[in-house]
Amino acid sequence: MSEKYIVSARKYRPSTFRSVVGQQSLTHTLKSAIASGRLAHAYLFCGPRGVGKTTCARIFAKTINCEHPTPEGEACNECPSCKAFNEQRSYNINELDAASNNSVDNIRDLTEQVRIPPQTGRYRVFIIDEVHMLSQAAFNAFLKTLEEPPEYAIFILATTEKQKVIPTILSRCQIYDFARITVPDIVQQLQYVCEQESIEAEPAALNVIAQKADGAMRDALSIFDQVAASTEGHITYQSALENLNVLDYDYYFRLVDTFLAGDVMQALLIYKEIRDKGFDSQFFINGLAQHLRDLMVASTPQTRKLLEMNDEVAQQYGVQSAKLAPQFYYRALDLCNSCDLNYRNASSKQLLVELTLVKLCQLVVAPQPQQAVQQPISKIDPSPAKPVQQSAPAASEPPLTVTPPTSSRIIRPAEPVQAPHPAEQAPPPAPAPEVQAPTQQPRPAAPSPTASRPMPRAVGNTPRIMVNVSNDASAQQQAANSTNASLRTMPFSAEQLNAAWQGYIDQHPQERALCTTMSYALPQQGDNAEHYVMIVGSSTELKNVEEHKAALMEYLSDQLQNDRLTLDVKVSEVPIDTPKILSPREVVEQIKQHNPNFNQFLKDFDLGLA
Ligand SMILES: [Zn+2]
Repeated sequence: MSEKYIVSARKYRPSTFRSVVGQQSLTHTLKSAIASGRLAHAYLFCGPRGVGKTTCARIFAKTINCEHPTPEGEACNECPSCKAFNEQRSYNINELDAASNNSVDNIRDLTEQVRIPPQTGRYRVFIIDEVHMLSQAAFNAFLKTLEEPPEYAIFILATTEKQKVIPTILSRCQIYDFARITVPDIVQQLQYVCEQESIEAEPAALNVIAQKADGAMRDALSIFDQVAASTEGHITYQSALENLNVLDYDYYFRLVDTFLAGDVMQALLIYKEIRDKGFDSQFFINGLAQHLRDLMVASTPQTRKLLEMNDEVAQQYGVQSAKLAPQFYYRALDLCNSCDLNYRNASSKQLLVELTLVKLCQLVVAPQPQQAVQQPISKIDPSPAKPVQQSAPAASEPPLTVTPPTSSRIIRPAEPVQAPHPAEQAPPPAPAPEVQAPTQQPRPAAPSPTASRPMPRAVGNTPRIMVNVSNDASAQQQAANSTNASLRTMPFSAEQLNAAWQGYIDQHPQERALCTTMSYALPQQGDNAEHYVMIVGSSTELKNVEEHKAALMEYLSDQLQNDRLTLDVKVSEVPIDTPKILSPREVVEQIKQHNPNFNQFLKDFDLGLA
């Protein structure tokens, strides 16, 4: 009776690229290669077992021989060629399992076959599965055929271990990497099978099956068969757990709750329950480690996609993980790992596991006075009766307490840091480079503008402003004070102003119009040493300078340490000879005017420019 529910992996083996589970981008690439007729002579399909490599190779062979492929590049599954493929009687496909046929003779048989052209259809496809298993001699024998294949021959090599395929083969193949199939993709396919076979299954049960299959669709289908058969078509979560000897994750959720509460007794009782169900202790500890890992990845949005389970279960992980701080996971995983490593040599394995559980219970709650190093790691206060901050934090280690959140120093990544680190409040003054314009004399002992804000990032040209780095603390203090409190009144020369002027130009290349104007309209001294005038060529330029004047003045004042600098911008009454960009022809004309020999040169050599 139960045989009714045996649905084999073969029955649900995909017959089109579209129905291949979990390899969408790869099958899309294959389809478009076929549709465009760009076929290589050799392909290498790499990836773990059970992810669809051979299936895709067969679909590929069928599709390139199909007489009426669909516009999407799929096989029609109706023409004589497709039917021959689907009924496994096509002569255009040859499969060699190199795991059991890895000798030179096996390869010779294959290369003999390669010589025979297709009787019907266009291509003969040779699939070599587990190609890395071929012997060295077999590899070499095969290489010859691979180098000069007949027009109609296409090789598809499949391997679970790409690194074992020799480079001379790799370099002749188009390589396709097959990914493990995700749990949600497997669950979706199993749901489809359920619908087709009228099998009822709880989503959590399919999730257990998919996780057990570890990324292989083929395994998932055969596990599914097994469970479906034994449950007579009503797959519940409990029946899946029992059939597959999987420990209900509910135990792990309950255990972590005991860790949060520091409830050692309850933790030990849950462990006994698990042992009573017949589960191995090491299996249990590794399952607990997996649970902690899943909680850890569920705790941040960035890593949540690493959680391979359906949404319903994932949400449960999200809820529990929100109660724990990152440090908890690190230490808890470390404890589980130590337990696993020591398990084999432990004289009392049960005691080892129990001791590990005791330690796990102490990660969160208040440490005993003699265990001052162990700090609580809970994210929320587990119990008001056990205040977590009664012991002084050990000097050597920062406190791991995250309770209550407002006073915590350990803050989960997603949360904003509430109090800035002291060092962040006042950024250390960026050491200004000592750059000196070649045309400038260093200023005498006058204090330098070290207190100016840090220079904007270098913009290519060497800044021409003179910036002295002063190590004199009092000078810095003085400068800082004057920045904050009073008007800066540092005397400056016309050269220094020009240097600062040029510095602004160098650092604002994006303000092209302004910088062009500034390059020719240099400031000229006006009524006094701190008053300057800038004469521009047009009212448009005037307007542009006025728009940027505030920023320019702020920059100049900072550079010169003088807030009394004033700048009047005026439009020239006579046309200003602004620099213009000359065309090559104009350049030649200018040279001709200034150098009569050049003109002669052009004539002598009969150059068109003359
Ligand atoms: Zn067809």
